Amino acid sequence: MARYTGPVCRLCRREGTKLFLKGTKCFSEKCPIEKRNFPPGQHGRARKPKIVGYGLQLREKQKAKRIYFTLESQFRAYYEKASRTQGVTGELLLQQLERRLDNVAYRLGFASSRRQARQIVRHGHVEVNGRKVNIPSFQVGVGDAIKIRENSKKMTVLESAADFASHQNAPRWLEVDHANLSGKVLALPKREDVNLPVNEQLIVELYSK
Ligand code: SF4
Repeated sequence: MARYTGPVCRLCRREGTKLFLKGTKCFSEKCPIEKRNFPPGQHGRARKPKIVGYGLQLREKQKAKRIYFTLESQFRAYYEKASRTQGVTGELLLQQLERRLDNVAYRLGFASSRRQARQIVRHGHVEVNGRKVNIPSFQVGVGDAIKIRENSKKMTVLESAADFASHQNAPRWLEVDHANLSGKVLALPKREDVNLPVNEQLIVELYSK
């Protein structure tokens, strides 16, 4: 599966807000948004366009897509599935994004960013219900037990991630066991569990045109 490999802080600067893509750096004064909160590029500082209508909807979609590190086709597929399911489409869209295994690994404190979590999953360090799963987009369900595989528990990256996670609030829909590098899905995430700067309604408006 293809993925974005360019500089990630640039993405935050493009959206004009912190997307928390780099772990501890995002909470430090080294975060470029603290010093250069204007779009990247030669004319980034000079241009201050007023974004309305379609532009606003597009920016919300790009923001959500970038936070969860998904590409357009996959993101659109999440929307299509959400729109076919009974319920509030925007919330169902966010729920699918939250249920991705790489996001859950991040929320459980296995990594200090979703990008790092994606790599940990991709490299086969995570198991779900006792079986190795190396697909970042794997959707977890209620009752699933997720843990770092026994042979991978000594990885140094997990220590720094655990330190980072100890300063974060554990989501209510997950049971987190930092000591054993494991967790369980207690319920499906609701809108109030997703504390991200995204207006999902604008994304729905964009795709439903
Ligand atoms: Fe975004 Fe984090 Fe980079 Fe700041 S440090 S610009 S929040 S990715």
